[in-house]
Amino acid sequence: MPGMNKNPPPPPSRLAPDYSTARAEFLAAADAAGATLRSSPHALTGPTGEALALDLATLGPTSATQSILLVAGTHGVEGFCGSALQTNWLRHSGADLPENVRVVLIHALNPYGFAWVRRVNEDNIDLNRNFVDWQSGPPHNADYDDLADLLVPESFSEAEQERTFEALMGRVIEVGLEQVQAEVSRGQYAHPKGIFYGGTAPAWSNRQLESIWSDELADSDSVIVIDLHTGLGPWGHGELIAHGASSTPGYQRAAAMWGEVHSMVDGESVSAALSGDWLGWIEHWAGDTEVTACALEYGTIDPIGVMHALRADAWLHGYGDPQGPTAEDVRAQVRSAFADDDPSWIAACWPRFEEVMGAALQS
Ligand SMILES: [Zn+2]
Repeated sequence: MPGMNKNPPPPPSRLAPDYSTARAEFLAAADAAGATLRSSPHALTGPTGEALALDLATLGPTSATQSILLVAGTHGVEGFCGSALQTNWLRHSGADLPENVRVVLIHALNPYGFAWVRRVNEDNIDLNRNFVDWQSGPPHNADYDDLADLLVPESFSEAEQERTFEALMGRVIEVGLEQVQAEVSRGQYAHPKGIFYGGTAPAWSNRQLESIWSDELADSDSVIVIDLHTGLGPWGHGELIAHGASSTPGYQRAAAMWGEVHSMVDGESVSAALSGDWLGWIEHWAGDTEVTACALEYGTIDPIGVMHALRADAWLHGYGDPQGPTAEDVRAQVRSAFADDDPSWIAACWPRFEEVMGAALQS
């Protein structure tokens, strides 16, 4: 078979130090692979005044009936990993696609969060809680209401951190960590300064994604979607998470292609079932297109450490000064919760990505 003797591509050597570097490396690799590039500029800038954009790279013939959509940075800061995987794939395999396949790459679906080292967007919105039916209104999360003041208090002094952390741990002891994680992370729409906040209307990135779908993917017979995430699960381990139950055709196609796939709603995933994730919303756009979608979620640090970083970040942007003296410490804390700069971490993430992308290309 041709290609059998080809050496496997090496893993990415490191994560980019910042958004601008990640973006420049992605654009250069996409260009070298022969991609068509289109950028949607974002109205705001990054912490050092850098330009922000959602960059779209497409490879393969426009007449192709099968497409793969590969997305990095739905959750801003998680794009350090996703960008490194995309760029490394473009460098080594981007110019070598099977016939009849298009690959559509989105670099930084949420560029503001990526540049500011945040999971959320410019309005503190978690994009994966923003894809709900805004006509009928978002769901109400009463469990979150009870914990809101403890999760993101107005003061984040050491004494307040200690007090609120102890109170939250009390809740963990009472009902278990998984239950607290589910209550907090499933999304909320009543606390704009809180964590896992879904907003009040479709966010900029939401509208961008909808138009990308209609411009680039609506004519495909089938679309495979891979959305790259970090922050849940064991260190360097990549778990495929499907939105739907294991009885759904989308899940079954995913499992046939990739093997082990965890369903978010069946309670078998590292992620809690949540409201408003975009993978769950695609069906509203899909029409006759057959969509097989998964998040690929890589573990970093322990869930309590991740939660603490999110609380510090929400406090900084809700009540503190994102350009003040403590801001860099908070950004470093968030970065290390969602991206491990030890090169062995991204090297550990790579083989699973290659497997997942390889199976999608061959299907
Ligand atoms: Zn994520």
